[in-house]
Amino acid sequence: MAGYAPHMTSFWSTDAVLPTRLPLSDDIEVDTVVIGAGLVGLTSALLLAERGRAVAVLEARRVGAVTTGASSAKISLLQGTRAQAIANRHGTRALSRYVAANRAGFDWLLEFCAAHEISAQRVPAITYAQQPRESAAVRAEFEATRAVGLPTQLVDELDVPFPAYGGVRLPEQAQVDPVAVLAAMAADVEANGAQIFESTRAHRLRHEGERVVVTTDNGQVTASNAIVATGSPVFDRRGLAARLVPERSYLAAFDVPGQVPEEMFLSAGSPTRSLRWAPTETGRVLLVGGSGHVVGRADGEARHVADLLNWANRWFPGAELLDRWSAQDYHPIGELPYVGPVGPGGDRVRCATGFAKWGMTNGVAAALTLVGRITGTPPEWARVYDTWRPGVVGTLRAGAEANATVAWHLSSGWLHAVEGGPSLPPREGEGRVERHGLHPTAVCTVDGRTDAVSPVCPHLWGIVNWNDAEKTWDCPLHGSRFAPDGSVLEGPATAPLSPREL
Ligand SMILES: Cc1cc2nc3c(=O)[nH]c(=O)nc-3n(C[C@H](O)[C@H](O)[C@H](O)COP(=O)(O)OP(=O)(O)OC[C@H]3O[C@@H](n4cnc5c(N)ncnc54)[C@H](O)[C@@H]3O)c2cc1C
Repeated sequence: MAGYAPHMTSFWSTDAVLPTRLPLSDDIEVDTVVIGAGLVGLTSALLLAERGRAVAVLEARRVGAVTTGASSAKISLLQGTRAQAIANRHGTRALSRYVAANRAGFDWLLEFCAAHEISAQRVPAITYAQQPRESAAVRAEFEATRAVGLPTQLVDELDVPFPAYGGVRLPEQAQVDPVAVLAAMAADVEANGAQIFESTRAHRLRHEGERVVVTTDNGQVTASNAIVATGSPVFDRRGLAARLVPERSYLAAFDVPGQVPEEMFLSAGSPTRSLRWAPTETGRVLLVGGSGHVVGRADGEARHVADLLNWANRWFPGAELLDRWSAQDYHPIGELPYVGPVGPGGDRVRCATGFAKWGMTNGVAAALTLVGRITGTPPEWARVYDTWRPGVVGTLRAGAEANATVAWHLSSGWLHAVEGGPSLPPREGEGRVERHGLHPTAVCTVDGRTDAVSPVCPHLWGIVNWNDAEKTWDCPLHGSRFAPDGSVLEGPATAPLSPREL
C-alpha cells in the first residue's frame, strides 16, 4: 500500500533532521519491548537502558511522528483548569500527588534538556479569562493550586493584544522544542545499547508462558515486559478506550510584526486559545493553538482551522503564517491519567494514557512510574495514576455520556453509510462514504488520485468520517485516523481500512 504523508507537519518537524531508523527485520528477544517512540516510549526506553536492561522500541511511523512531535510543549504545573477538575473529582490529596508526579516529570525533563544543551525557556504560565464569565474558573484554579502549595498569583491586567479579563499566573515554568527533545532522547536510547525500529507497527500481542510476544509485519519481539506507549493504548483488553475522549486541536506558527507576548497563555474556557513563543535564528515565532473538537465529530475540520487563523490575524494584525498543523490527545473521563496494566490481571503489559494535553510532564512521570513498576521501585506519588478500576465507566456520568455518544455515532455512521452515493469520484480534496453494491465504501480524491477503502474502522467498527482539513479518514468512536489509502495514522487501530474496488 503506497504511503501518504500527512498533509500538515508541525513547526518543530519542518526543519528537523532526524536520522531514519530501519524497520525490524528479524525475530528478537529483549527484556522489555516498548511500543511507540513518543515522549512516554522514549523516556521509558532510556530509563530502562540506563539501568542495563535490553530494550527494543517499535515505532509504527517515525520518532515523534504523532502527538509529541506536534505538541505545544509547554512544561507547566499550571495546566489550564486541570487542578480544579481533579480536585473536584478526587479531592485535594489526589491533586497533591498529581502535582508531585508532574513536578517529578518537570524536573526530570528540564534536567534532560540541560544535560543535552536543549534550549528550554523559563517563562510564566497563565490561565486567563477570555470573557468575564471565565473569571470564576480562573479564581477556582488559583484556589485549587494554592491549596496544594503551588505559588500561583491572581493578576488583574494582562499585557496582551487580545481580550483578557485577568488570570492566574505561575512563574518559572518552561517551553521547549519537543522534536529536539525526542531527537536527543532517541540518540541517548541507542547510545545506551537499546534499539529503535521505525516503520514497524505492532499488530498483535500474545502471552506465551512468562513471556510476551509482539508481532509486526517483519518479525516478532519476545520480551518479559511490554510498555504500550501508543497514546491511546493498542491491545486494550480492559476497555480503556471507553474512558478516553480523543480531542483534536489545531496549531499555527506565525511571524508577528512587533512584540510577541512573553508568557505562555491558555484560556480558561472555550474555544480554547493557547499561546507560546519559540525562539528562531531570526527572532521569536508566535504559536497559537485551539479550536479543538472530538476526533471525527467536527462539522467540517477546515472551519476549525479557519476559526483559529482568523482569531490570530485579528489580534496580531500582519501576522504571517509559517506552518499549521494539528494533533490529538486523550482526555480521561475520570480526569486523572492512567498508568497500569492493559489487560486484566496482567502486569507484564502496561500502558500510559489520558494526559488531557498535559503529557510533557505527565508523560515523563508515567515513564518513571512504568519503569519503577518493572524494577520494583515505583515513586510514592505513582498511585495517583492507579485510579481506573474495571467496570467503573458506567457509574461515572461523564462515562455514561461519552459511551452514549459513541453508541450514537456507531449507529448513525452505519445509517449514513448505506444511503447510497453518486457515481462521479469526489472532487480534489473531498471524501465521502458511498454505497457500492452491498458494501459501504469510503472514496476520496487527494493529489489527483482517487482511493476507495472500507469505511469500517477495524478498532471497534465505527464508520469513519472525512476530515476536510487534513484529508484523512477519522473514526468518531475512539479517534483512530487513516490516510486516504486506508493506512493507519494514529489512534487505537492497529490495522488499515481494507482496500475496495470502485
Ligand atoms: C494540540 C496539542 C497540544 C499539546 N500541548 C501540550 C503542552 O503544551 N504541554 C503538555 O504538557 N502537553 C501537551 N500536549 C500533550 C502531549 O503532547 C501528549 O500528551 C504527549 O506528547 C503524549 O506522548 P505519548 O508518548 O503518549 O504519545 P505520542 O507522542 O503520540 O507517541 C505514541 C507513538 O506510538 C506510535 N504507535 C501507535 N500505535 C503503534 C503501534 N501499533 N505500533 C508501533 N507504534 C505505534 C505512534 O506512531 C507514536 O509515535 C498537547 C497535545 C496536543 C494534541
